[in-house]
Order: sequence, then structure tokens, then C-alpha cells
Amino acid sequence: MSLFGGIEAGGTKFICAVGTDPDNLQSQTRISTTTPEETLGQVVDFFRQQQVEAGEIEAIGIGAFGPVNVNPDSPKFGWFLNTPKPGWQQIDFLGLLQRELGVPHIGFDTDVNAAALGEYQWGNAQGIANFIYLTVGTGVGGGGMVDGKLMHGLLHPEMGHILIPHDVIADPFVGACPFHKDCLEGLASGYAMEKRWGQPGASLPPDHPAWALEAHYLALGLINFIFTLSPERIIIGGGVMEQKQMFPMVRSQVQALLSHYLDVPEIVYDIDNYILPPKLGAKAGFSGAFVLAAQALELQA
Ligand code: ZN
Repeated sequence: MSLFGGIEAGGTKFICAVGTDPDNLQSQTRISTTTPEETLGQVVDFFRQQQVEAGEIEAIGIGAFGPVNVNPDSPKFGWFLNTPKPGWQQIDFLGLLQRELGVPHIGFDTDVNAAALGEYQWGNAQGIANFIYLTVGTGVGGGGMVDGKLMHGLLHPEMGHILIPHDVIADPFVGACPFHKDCLEGLASGYAMEKRWGQPGASLPPDHPAWALEAHYLALGLINFIFTLSPERIIIGGGVMEQKQMFPMVRSQVQALLSHYLDVPEIVYDIDNYILPPKLGAKAGFSGAFVLAAQALELQA
């Protein structure tokens, strides 16, 4: 059986793994996202060591924070583009791994599309051809599938940067996105919560008004995605959603905002199975990266 490398390249941390599927891992590590030199150097070191200890890695899959170039026909395939992350603009991530590790087959997509693929293969999106996967952590991102294919296009979806109503009387916080200020990510990311309340969200009690506001913004985002993409399921991962009070609040706010306009049983009677966390949890990203690796091997073999 082919051995794969999987990388979930996130804005806070890179999770690197070697194995075949979420339940069959040779090794796994977490590397902090600092500077490209330091972080990518540690990524290369990890896989080099695994090439010695675990054996030949036939292909690597990468799910990366965006914006990134995901078009295999572009000379900049696998590059970080104008990301808000300081120092990470215009970096040839895929090329560096190819050069340093000598692995010819590398699959590349966004972190959220990779996680979506993991959930499609092994998790809560099995058998579902139209769904979205959102992450609400340091940033907000979204991807998913239409007709069983990962969403791409001009570049890739950037669901975190949609504009949503912002009542500046109720919430005078200007927003934290360096590009758009009060876009969805600018209002509802973990980073935005920390800026607004002066402390990390995880340190706020479950009954703090921060969570109801957070659920409101996420629900506003979700109803836009429901209306535009008509997903059959919505999976939401990321650190902010690990707060137990969040899913019930988001679900009821979505129902309230839809105001019975979409009277489908999935939303009216079964919303707990319509908006739900990833089954693979934190493994979704790198597991989906294994699938990207397998696909790259098949395509390029
Ligand atoms: Zn933005």
C-alpha cells in the first residue's frame, strides 16, 4: 500500500502526517506557523526523517491557508498569493517541497477543501455530493463540493471574506480583516473575538454575550451560503466551534434568519444533522491531504 504525506498548512499551525488514512498513521507532528523559512524548514526536516524511518513516501498532499494558487496548469500552482499573513506572500510552497524532498507527486488545494475531502472520504460528508466545509478559527474559510467535485473556479472560494450586515451600534468593533475590515472573518474569526473583547475567546465564559454575537455573525454567513450554494450539509470545524454552546446557537439563529423561507425537512426538523462538526475532528485536514496525495499519484502516474 502506498505511503502518503499529508500537510494541513494553517495560519496558526502546520499539521504534518505520514500514513494512508486517519486510522493508519506512521507519524504526526505539529509545527507552529512563524516565518516561512522556519516553518517550512521544519516541515522539510519532518518528512526527510520520515523518508528514513517510515520508508518511501510516494506522494504528498497539501491543504493550505489562502489565498493560494490551486490551478495545476498555472506556473504558480502551489504558491501562497497575497495572504494577509505577514511574510507569506508569493512563496512557492509546492516547488520547495518537490526540490527538498524529491517527491514527484504533490497534490495541492486549500485547507478547507482538503478538510472537505477528508470528510467526504471518511467523515460526515460521505455520500453527499453538495456540501460546504467551514473553519472558524484564527481565520474563517470555506470550501466544499458541488456535484462531488471540490469547488474551484477563478481561484477558489473565499467564504470568510463575504460581507454581512454589521450593526455598529450593537457592535462598534471596526473589524479585524486587513483587507475589508468588517467582512465575516473580520467580525467572527477567533482573532476578531480576541481583538473585540481584549482576551482570547477560549477564556470567555460560555454565557458571555460574545458567543451569541459570534453565532449571529456565523448564521448570517451561513444563510448566504445556503441561498447561493444550496448545500445538502454544512460541516463547521475550527477552534471557535469547539465551544459546546456554539452549534445549538448557530443552528437556531440560522432557522430564525431563514424565517421559514426554505421549508425543507433537513432544516426544519433535522438541523442537528444539517449543521454539524467534522467527524474526523482535527484529523480532517491532513486526512483530506492524503486523498489529495493519492489523486496526484493517480493523475501523474
Ligand atoms: Zn476580509
